[in-house]
Amino acid sequence: MYKVSRYNLFFEENNMILLFNSLRNVVARCDAETKEILENETLDKLPSNLLDKMVSEGVIVDEKLNELNVIRFTRMMHYVHLMQNLSIGLTLVMTYSCNLACPYCYEGDRKAKGGLLTPNKIETILKFAKSHRQGDKKPLISVSFYGGEPLLNWKGCRYTLERLEEMKEDGEIRDYSTGFITNGTLINYELIEAINEYNVNSMQITLDGPREVHNKRRIRPNGEGTFDEIIENIKLLKNGVNNEKFHLGLRINVDKTNFETIPELLEFLKKEGLDDIPISYGIVRGNFPYCHSNCGIYFSGVDLQKALPYLWREAYRRGFNVWTRPNLRFIYCGYDHPFGYVIDPELKVYPCWEMVGIEEYQIGEIQEDGSLKIYPFYYDVKSRDPTEYEECRKCKLLPVCMGGCAAESIRRNGHPNGPGCDINKYIWKEGLKFYLMKRYSYLFSQDNKNKEKMI
Ligand code: SF4
Ligand code: SF4
Repeated sequence: MYKVSRYNLFFEENNMILLFNSLRNVVARCDAETKEILENETLDKLPSNLLDKMVSEGVIVDEKLNELNVIRFTRMMHYVHLMQNLSIGLTLVMTYSCNLACPYCYEGDRKAKGGLLTPNKIETILKFAKSHRQGDKKPLISVSFYGGEPLLNWKGCRYTLERLEEMKEDGEIRDYSTGFITNGTLINYELIEAINEYNVNSMQITLDGPREVHNKRRIRPNGEGTFDEIIENIKLLKNGVNNEKFHLGLRINVDKTNFETIPELLEFLKKEGLDDIPISYGIVRGNFPYCHSNCGIYFSGVDLQKALPYLWREAYRRGFNVWTRPNLRFIYCGYDHPFGYVIDPELKVYPCWEMVGIEEYQIGEIQEDGSLKIYPFYYDVKSRDPTEYEECRKCKLLPVCMGGCAAESIRRNGHPNGPGCDINKYIWKEGLKFYLMKRYSYLFSQDNKNKEKMI
């Protein structure tokens, strides 16, 4: 006996009814009659070949199957895998300081903390990372250089790269990878040499719009804009880096005040020959407890449904690659990773980039001997489980969301152990439609001659 999967979602486009099953991550075209059968659970009306097909795609499931338990089990297996793989994710706050004074920056007062992650402290962190070794199995270390502006502490970044390489050569770790999250103003030849020499796999640089707009938002403390120097630095990277594993990405920050200017930026990037660099859109959003000044410019869910498809289209038609399809997830982000740590210059440990520097959200502190002194919040973080939240349990997007962002949950619910619905809640349909239109354009052509083809 069968029942209908609880993770079926329907949507319509170009006179077609489409069915998305978020647990199996399948999309299928469907007619009105089949939709009605599935919605009314009158499965005896389905022809047997269609029933079989739907069972194999997970649209219809065994009557006894508890799909929530499928999610619980899959998550559990994923945790076991992460723990056995010993992949340690270190986000290192190289300094809280920043050389820019962007008005919306969520790090606010935290920047005034100053301080650098010194070589001594980096040694202690690496000792901590190595302590994850289990028997003969050595850890795999991934480091994100973060800040403030991490390149203000270039000495510390360089020291970390050198030591990771040595540890790899000495067989103390299995391997390592690194990435930089930077504002892009401090790129130089020394950094490029290091990218070519060590395992530097990624760099994310942020732009806030075309020159005039960017220069009002990503500014130096004296009010000077930074657009031209960042573009020059991007070109420097493009021409100077020959490390094949290195990927440069541009994050374009958008909110209500600048999104209509983004096509001008995309046009500029294309003209400058920078359209082969992958872009992503960052939604500027409210923050806690530092953000008071930007209220009113954030997108609402409804605004996003219009703004993002517009931005995707503008990027796509200029040749930029944008990924919009919802993906299956086992965990939402590094917050949920069993070995994910954000570590500041005082060796205080936090679970998330946005919570860094906020005492309430500290999960521990690394001791001189490389051990971790665990704080009570550690256990709240590491046991976060969206299948315990009523809203998530009922939510058809759970397999592609997994409870969302804990920081968003703090904003919504006052605590991190609750649903932190992210933009996918509002734009999954638009994202899927955009993906399908790119991939199966024949289905969306005006004449619709090929409409009978199945996806
Ligand atoms: S919890 Fe949210 S803000 Fe924190 S790291 Fe994850 S996605 Fe980012
Ligand atoms: S966080 Fe929101 S969108 Fe995500 S599964 Fe929970 S209720 Fe659904």
